[in-house]
Amino acid sequence: MIILSLFIISEFNFESNKLFKHTLDSGQSMKFIISLTLLAFVAFASGGLYEGAKVFRLERIPHETAAKKLNQLIEYEAELGSDNFNIWNGFVAVGSSIDIMVKPAVVNEFEALIEAFGIQSTVIVENVQVLYDAEKASRKGTSRSGNGTLTWDDYHSVDEFYRYYDWLDENYDWVVIESIGSSEHGTDMRVAKLCYPDGVCGKNDALWLDSCIHAREWLAAASLSFVLSELVENYEHHQHMVEKYEWYIMLVSNPDGYTYSMFDEGTRMWRKTRSENAGSLLGCVGTDPNRNWDSMWATVGTSDNPCADTYHGEYAMSEIEVANIAAFVDSHTNIRFSNNIHTYGQMVLLPYGVAAAPPPPNLSELFAVGNRSAETLEVVHGTKFVVDQIYQLVGEAAGGACDYIYNTSKVPCAYGMELRDQGTYGFLAPTTEIIPMGQELFAYHSEVVKILEEGQYCNRT
Ligand SMILES: [Zn+2]
Repeated sequence: MIILSLFIISEFNFESNKLFKHTLDSGQSMKFIISLTLLAFVAFASGGLYEGAKVFRLERIPHETAAKKLNQLIEYEAELGSDNFNIWNGFVAVGSSIDIMVKPAVVNEFEALIEAFGIQSTVIVENVQVLYDAEKASRKGTSRSGNGTLTWDDYHSVDEFYRYYDWLDENYDWVVIESIGSSEHGTDMRVAKLCYPDGVCGKNDALWLDSCIHAREWLAAASLSFVLSELVENYEHHQHMVEKYEWYIMLVSNPDGYTYSMFDEGTRMWRKTRSENAGSLLGCVGTDPNRNWDSMWATVGTSDNPCADTYHGEYAMSEIEVANIAAFVDSHTNIRFSNNIHTYGQMVLLPYGVAAAPPPPNLSELFAVGNRSAETLEVVHGTKFVVDQIYQLVGEAAGGACDYIYNTSKVPCAYGMELRDQGTYGFLAPTTEIIPMGQELFAYHSEVVKILEEGQYCNRT
């Protein structure tokens, strides 16, 4: 009886919600309704969808059999439409370390498997619900402060960010808002271009910064919006940063996924795009947009299973969001520095995500710029970021934005970044983290500008 009535409630919510109507057209609605029903039942039984869910950190998966069995278990659950497993960081492969959220329904099976294969582990989060509730409680529900600027005690929707873009556009002659195309579901993809003093762009060297290509990494967009505000609204305090350089800033690179991750408790951990996978018999939605770029695509550290969180897509650049960003960055040949910003892990990431790729010709330069900027970041609040190539720090990951922008767009200093923290909050940072992280991110880029000004590094050839 309980299940039946929850089914009806779920179906009602589903029908009454435009977002779900929009995203669940083709044959997968029944599966989703069933999932919703199960989720609702769990919520009813325990008080929250993440109650008792733990995050395990697995240290170096020792051999192929262990990796294979673990992958089978995770993908089997995903194909059932369950979210009993959710990889927070890393990719299941021999030698790599991963953070994985495990729900109580499967924790015994999971622990037996990692014990049988001798996989070392620690529990880094005892109960994800506590973090989820704390993040939610920290959100003040305010989007704009008195003078019209953003607030940094809440996470904002795409629309709220765009209203802030519009406000900047109205109030500063040198801020230009450019649409670079639409997302899969028709959301405008907007870049804030800072082109001092008259809004005419293309005169100076530029920096490209983007965040939330992975939907759930809210702290990235929030901190980057702080950097945007600091550059524009406080420009008197660091005029050289905007007078000599143009800034192209995209707060949300995956707007459909980001909006979906904000929908409710059950969607908070969404990572991918929201495009339909025609070939998925199971109706699994979305591609990992940071595995979809045309750079060593689908070779290592990605999945060919549309139900997996690291699904590389049907073909390289299949995701319209990725294609739009690539076209923008390719065509702006004045970009000397780029940063594809993620959470979490406190890392500065250098190309490439593929160990077998020949090292970037200017690797020592990439290290020098990364190290100096990370040291400046550390001065602000004492937060340490490690600097290394992607495959060394987060494991192999082909088809990433940083690799493409370095190799194909020819941006000489192309980076990625994993912001705070090291797993205490993971993706569920309370809003009190936004301003300190924003200050650190600003300091990082102020050092980058100093380095660009010195002229020794990051020159296009
Ligand atoms: Zn990410």
